[in-house]
Amino acid sequence: MKINIAIDGPSAAGKSTIAKRLGNRLGYVHLDTGAMYRSTALKCVNSGISLDDEDAVCEMLKNTEITLTPEGKVYLDGQDVSDAIRTDEISMAASKVSAHKNVRRDLVARQQEMAKAKGFIMDGRDIGTVVLKDAEVKIYMTASAEARALRRYRQNIEKGIPTTDVETIAEEIRQRDYDDMHRENSPLRKADDATEVDTSDMTIEEVVERIYQLAEPFLKKEA
Ligand code: C5P
Repeated sequence: MKINIAIDGPSAAGKSTIAKRLGNRLGYVHLDTGAMYRSTALKCVNSGISLDDEDAVCEMLKNTEITLTPEGKVYLDGQDVSDAIRTDEISMAASKVSAHKNVRRDLVARQQEMAKAKGFIMDGRDIGTVVLKDAEVKIYMTASAEARALRRYRQNIEKGIPTTDVETIAEEIRQRDYDDMHRENSPLRKADDATEVDTSDMTIEEVVERIYQLAEPFLKKEA
C-alpha cells in the first residue's frame, strides 16, 4: 500500500517545487490543489462571473473540467492553462474564490476522489486539516515573506511571466497570507499532527531530504 503526503503552507513557500521533486523520487503523483482554485478563478475572469458571487461560481463549476496531469500540466475544459493561471492577477482572484464554502466543497470532493488510490503528494492550504485528514505524513511548510517574494520574482522571470518588483510581490504575499489565514472556511493553519519545516534558509534538496526522512518509516512498512 502506498501512502499520501500532505503539504500545506502559505503562498510561495516552495510547496509545489518540493512536492514535484519528492514525487519524482518516490514515484508518487504530485497534485497541486492551488491550480484548481486558480483555474476556477481564471474561468470566472474570462467569462465575466463575479468572484464574489458564490452561487454563480458553483453553478459554473458544475460544467467545468479541471485536469491535472502527472507531468504537471493543467487543463481547463480541455485547454492548457498551465501558464495562464500563474499571473499575479489570477493569484489574487484564486484567493477570493477559495474563500467560498461551496466552491471549496466542490473542489475538495474532487481532490479526495483523486487521492483515494494513494501514492499522492498533495499541496495546498487545507490538505492536512480537511482534504486528507488521514494522510500518513503531514508537512506545514513556511518561509519568510521576503524569501518567498524573491523566489516568486525569480520564478516569474525564469518562466517569462509578467512580474512586478520584489517589494510589491512581498506585499501581495502578506495580503494573501492574511486572507487565507483569517477566512471563515478552512483557514490556513498547521494541523496538530503536522511537522513544521521553515525553508527560508534551506536548499530545495535539503527540504526534499527532510520530508523523505519523515516519510521513510511509512515507506518501509509499505515495502
Ligand atoms: O497554492 P497557490 O498559491 O497556487 O494557491 C492559490 C490560492 O488558492 C491560495 O492563495 C489560496 O487562497 C487558494 N487555495 C486554497 N486551498 C488550497 C489551495 C489553494 O484555498 N488547498
